[in-house]
Amino acid sequence: MIKAIGYAAQEATAPLKPLEFDRNEPGAHDVQIDILYCGVCHSDVHQVRNEWHNTVYPCLPGHEIVGRVVNVGQHVTKFKEGDLAGVGCMIDSCQECQPCHAGEEQYCEGPKGWTATYNGPQKPDGSNTFGGYSSTITVKETFALKIPENLETKAVAPLLCAGVTTYSPLRHWQVKPGQKVGVVGFGGLGDMAVKLATAMGARVVAFTTSPEKEAGIRKLGAEDVVISTDKAAMEKYASSFDFILSTIPTKHDINPYIQLLKRDATIALVGALEPLEPINHSQVAFHRRSVAGSLIGGITETQEVLDFCSHHNIVSDVELIPIQQINEAFERMIKGDVKYRFVIDMNSLKDQEG
Ligand code: NDP
Ligand code: ZN
Repeated sequence: MIKAIGYAAQEATAPLKPLEFDRNEPGAHDVQIDILYCGVCHSDVHQVRNEWHNTVYPCLPGHEIVGRVVNVGQHVTKFKEGDLAGVGCMIDSCQECQPCHAGEEQYCEGPKGWTATYNGPQKPDGSNTFGGYSSTITVKETFALKIPENLETKAVAPLLCAGVTTYSPLRHWQVKPGQKVGVVGFGGLGDMAVKLATAMGARVVAFTTSPEKEAGIRKLGAEDVVISTDKAAMEKYASSFDFILSTIPTKHDINPYIQLLKRDATIALVGALEPLEPINHSQVAFHRRSVAGSLIGGITETQEVLDFCSHHNIVSDVELIPIQQINEAFERMIKGDVKYRFVIDMNSLKDQEG
């Protein structure tokens, strides 16, 4: 076993605190990665605080992991010691069902579904998985990602979740150059969505509740920024969007956004994994609109977004924090006080050890 240290919560109302635990030695097909950086996703807050009612404690979050390979099993071919490597939201899946064969492990239909990087039962013993707010991780090489060397390493970490979660629906709904795309909510996911959709050639309009974010969003290439509480500004865009991607994290009313879709267009929601306010179905049916959802992205697609970002020179806007500030970072994220993704400098764990 490998000695590891991380930050975990012992219950929904408890702050994250240091936890010592063991990682597996890498098996023949595994790599061990010493973690350099880990992004802080709003899902980490939902999970730690048991907002999805399925958290197993201790809960050690983190699924935007970038680090250096320090050990490889004898059959590993993709990585060697010293390589940069990443781990996103999944570390395993059944590999046998149709979605797994199609490279969409996030929709695995195997008996246990996919294994989440944290808060996921491990086969065969069923023990809880621990994520990237930690010193090191051992993972199957098939679930580890190659990290482009040309991008700033700390700012790449959020691509492993925020990047692929927004890239996947933009690809699935086949966003094309010249199309009008709305991005709702400008946090960690929204930042990536605006950058990715712009790089795909879309004309992007961002919807925000925070007027102070407008200038920053325009700099990324957004054609317009709409304050979503301004009814007149919203009405100006009635029936004009080819696709809308919403990242709002909590229960809300999506009806004002449905009205902005063209005939046959789709709004995909990636945030708010919970019951929403009722939908006015006449607004959907009369224009043959679709309301859809999307979950992270497969491993192949995760590599694709990393390579796409490498090619287009896209990274997340990040604020680097030591792990000792993680509880404050959770509070600040809930208040929207971050531009636009916290990333933990895992070097700070050494202060913990020493
Ligand atoms: P952030 O907190 O970084 O960003 C969310 C943004 O939404 C905020 O910055 C704010 O933007 C806006 N917002 C927040 N509260 C409200 C509200 N009540 N009404 C309207 N707008 C609001 O979160 P992330 O980007 O990290 O994550 C967004 C959501 O996506 C979370 O729920 C997360 O769990 C989920 N998620 C889902 C995944 C999936 O696979 N489906 C994967 C990853 C994350 P502004 O100030 O611009 O209004
Ligand atoms: Zn995430």
